[in-house]
Amino acid sequence: MALFTPVRRWQPPFLPFKRQKFSLRLLAWIERVVKGPLFGCRMCGNCLLQETAFICPMECPKGLRNGPCGGSTPEYCYVDKTRKCVWYLIYRRAFSKGREEKLMEVLPPLDWEKVGGETWADVVRQLRKTGTGKFFRGMLSRNPEVRNETWENVFRPVRQPEWWNGDAVYHPSSNHESAGSLERRLKNGEFVFTTEVIPPLHPDISRLKKNIEAVKPFVSALNFTDNSAAVPRMSGQACCKVAASMGADPVLQLTGRDNNRYSLQAKALGANMEGIKNILCITGDSPVIGSKPTGSLEMFDLDAVQMLWILRRMRDEGKYLDGREIKCKPSYFLGAAASPFASKPKYQAWREHKKVNAGAQFLQTNLIFDVDGLEEWLEELYRKDILDKVYIIVGIAPLRSLRMANHLRYEVPGVVVPDSVVRRIEKAGDEAGEEGIQIALELTEKIRKMRGVNGIHLTTMGCESTVERIVRESGAIIDDTGRP
Ligand code: SF4
Repeated sequence: MALFTPVRRWQPPFLPFKRQKFSLRLLAWIERVVKGPLFGCRMCGNCLLQETAFICPMECPKGLRNGPCGGSTPEYCYVDKTRKCVWYLIYRRAFSKGREEKLMEVLPPLDWEKVGGETWADVVRQLRKTGTGKFFRGMLSRNPEVRNETWENVFRPVRQPEWWNGDAVYHPSSNHESAGSLERRLKNGEFVFTTEVIPPLHPDISRLKKNIEAVKPFVSALNFTDNSAAVPRMSGQACCKVAASMGADPVLQLTGRDNNRYSLQAKALGANMEGIKNILCITGDSPVIGSKPTGSLEMFDLDAVQMLWILRRMRDEGKYLDGREIKCKPSYFLGAAASPFASKPKYQAWREHKKVNAGAQFLQTNLIFDVDGLEEWLEELYRKDILDKVYIIVGIAPLRSLRMANHLRYEVPGVVVPDSVVRRIEKAGDEAGEEGIQIALELTEKIRKMRGVNGIHLTTMGCESTVERIVRESGAIIDDTGRP
C-alpha cells in the first residue's frame, strides 16, 4: 500500500524558507526517502509508527492520531471513499500481529514546529543521552523486559514529550463532588434520559427557549451541538448558557474540527464560569459533508481522545497544556461520543476504552437500531472491564419517514438501520411517524435491561414533542414532578 500512496500530503507554507542546518535537512530527506515508500510516511515530524503497527496514521484525512473516527468502515474512509480507512488498516494489522496493546497509549497532538521535518534527530539525541553502547547491549539482552525498557528509554521521550506524557492507564476523576445534576443522577444509580435541542440558525432565541421548556421536565440533561454535520448555527456554548439560565443541565459538545488546543482550553474555562458542567468531546464530522464551499480539509489540531486528556488534566491536575498552573481548578463531567457500528464493534470498543482512560466519564452512542450489534459492543466493553468506569447513554431516534430511515441508513456514517426496521416504516405509509415512535419505545425497553446501560439519549431532529411521549410511555417517570 505504502509504495503507491502519494508522498507528502501536508507541508507548512513557510517550510521551504525555514533555515535549518544542512545535516538536519539531509536527515529529513533520507527519512522521507526511506519511510515514505516503506510506511506511507507523511513527515509529520512527530513519528508514531511503532504505536500504529507501522502504518502512518497521517494518511487519515482528519489526521487522527488515536484511533478511527465514528464514521470508519471496513470498506472505505467516509471522507474519501476512494481509499480505505487507514485506521481500520492499522487496527487490523495491530490485532493480527498481537500489537493491539500499543494502540491504547494516549498519543499527543502534533508539535507543529516539527511538522514537515525529521524525527530521527530526536532519536539520535535520545540515543546519545541513554548511551549508544548501553542501548545496543540492552537490545541484545535475552531478557525481553530489559529489551523493552531499553527501547522505551529511547523512544518514549521521542513520542511522549514532557508537555503531554500520555499513557495507557485509566485515570479516574479526582473530583469527588458531582459537577452537575447529570453526574449526580448517574452516580445515584438513576436511569437517565437526555436529549438534544438543535441550536437556532438566527439570533432569535424564542423558539430555542420554547423547545428547552418543552423537554426540560422529562430529561436529565440537554445536549447542544457544535456546528453539527459541519453546518454553522448558533454556538452550542451560547445555547448552553440559555439552558443553564432556565434551570436545565446542559451538555456542551465541542469538536476537534472547530477547536484547536487554544480555543478548547479557553472555551472550557468560559463554560465552567457560565455554569456549564458537562462537556462532550467529539472529533467532529468532516467538512466534506458540511456546507459549501468546503472549509479546511486539513488535519484537525486535536482528536476527541486528546481533547479529553487536556480537559481532564485541567480539572484534576490544575494545568494548562503548556504546563501553566490553573489556580482555581475547573469542575467538569467529561463525556465522549461512541460509535459501536463504525468499523467493527471490537475495534470501536478498543477506541472507547482509550477515551475512558483519557478521561471520558460518560459515553453517548451514535443512533442505535440494532440491539444485537449493541450487545456485541457492550460485551467487548465488559470484557475490557470498563463498564463500571463509564456511564453509557444509548442514542435512539424516533424515525419519522422512510426518507429519514434511508438517509440515516445510507448517508450517516456509523449508523446501521436493519432491513426489518426499514420495512416496518415503509409498510406504515402515512403512519410512519407513529411506527417510528413504537420502534423507539421497543428499543428503549430492550436497551434499558442491558448490562452497563445507564440511560437513553433521544435524538428527535427538531421534533421535541416526542421526548415527553417516549419518556412517559417507556414508564420511566419516577417522581411526582414528572422528572425521570
Ligand atoms: S474513516 Fe475516519 S478515521 Fe478512517 S481514515 Fe477516514 S476520517 Fe480517518
